[in-house]
Amino acid sequence: MAKTYCSKLWDHQYIHMSGSFRFCCATNDNILNPKGNRYNINNTSSENVWNSEHVRNTRLNMISGKEIPECTKCVEQESRGYTSMRSNANKEINFSNTNSDGRVSAMPGSMELHYGNVCNLKCRMCSQNYSNQIGKELLDIGKGDKEFLDWVIKQSGNVNNWTNNLSVEYLWFRNQKNKNKLNQFVSKNIQSLVVIGGEPTVIPEFYELFDYCDEQNTLKEKNFTIVTNLTNTNPKMLERLPKLKEWTIWASMDGIGARTEYIRYPSNFNKITENLNIYKSLAKKYSNGKIVFSPAIQLLNIDQLDTMLEWFVDFAEKDLGKIFGVSWLAQVWYPRICNYDIAPREYRLSVADKLEKKTKLFEKYKSIKSYYTNQIENLRKDTLDKDTEKHLQKSFIQYNDKLDAHRGSTTWRQLLPELETALTKAIV
Ligand code: SF4
Repeated sequence: MAKTYCSKLWDHQYIHMSGSFRFCCATNDNILNPKGNRYNINNTSSENVWNSEHVRNTRLNMISGKEIPECTKCVEQESRGYTSMRSNANKEINFSNTNSDGRVSAMPGSMELHYGNVCNLKCRMCSQNYSNQIGKELLDIGKGDKEFLDWVIKQSGNVNNWTNNLSVEYLWFRNQKNKNKLNQFVSKNIQSLVVIGGEPTVIPEFYELFDYCDEQNTLKEKNFTIVTNLTNTNPKMLERLPKLKEWTIWASMDGIGARTEYIRYPSNFNKITENLNIYKSLAKKYSNGKIVFSPAIQLLNIDQLDTMLEWFVDFAEKDLGKIFGVSWLAQVWYPRICNYDIAPREYRLSVADKLEKKTKLFEKYKSIKSYYTNQIENLRKDTLDKDTEKHLQKSFIQYNDKLDAHRGSTTWRQLLPELETALTKAIV
């Protein structure tokens, strides 16, 4: 019994960019009303969804150990021997606090909140669902080259993760009613908040949430994690971070210098470093903050992984493991052209050999070393059949050449001449 339990149903709420609700970030299923339609913050509240029939029944199913269709991803990960997002915390107490109809009186203390999809960047591995700039650019290219746009839509997850509606913009958080109910709910109930966008630091409504919690004097009970591309800081936020119980900047940075500027276009590496230094000073001064470097490892930066990690270690000085951390170095799977598995074998092996020579540098940082050596092992694995590999290599070239020409930016060919040589040879 209860083998399908996960504490998220008792302590966590997830608000998607669109304003719909989910159990957590690990599922793609939305919480539905009795008619089978998605709940959305535009027409309901966090409180209502928390004890909705869908959530109540799922709690009861978890108590009786029934399979939970929304949790398939965690089940699959566990069956392959990996850890999943599932949390086994507080099982007994949560069960005893659950009414016979699945209702609980305590509201969630944790939330992942996506403030729509308004962003100031259009990163290579991102999609319109997270940045409203990406679809706009593709539609713009499509005005002069319909064939290219049709190809992108047809390729979908191979070159772009979200081609359903390239002009979609999620702006629910600008509505005064939505804003009020969200701010009140967070201030009253949430101790641990993860804020993602879009890009939270370019969203004025995010600062209004800070203001509201400050007025209610609840900041001191809260732990905020802000996932940011580091292109902006805001005096309002900097004033309020010290008032939080804890804060973490989850720093999305995918390389050094021109490389991160290319991947996270149009960013500026000097500005990013300047902002990182601001957070660093603040964390040192008030001792309630952390900075976690969180690069998305992909074909466009895997060759620079050693340099990037060296830079993180240098920047952290003696504070790695205290103020600074490095995330688990997630490998980008989608869009597939960003996954380094598609690179020609000779290129992957030469990058693996190059990285291996630097392993010693990370000897004293246990988790960095283990993630680093995992990437080296992955580089040496052949995972794709030849036809798929070739198709994705051609798609990588076609997609990135087109975007580079449109942006008039530095090209991937200039930044990665060895990759260019390897790919050109492989697609013949
Ligand atoms: S088991 Fe996984 S998918 Fe299900 S609620 Fe928990 S974390 Fe989310």
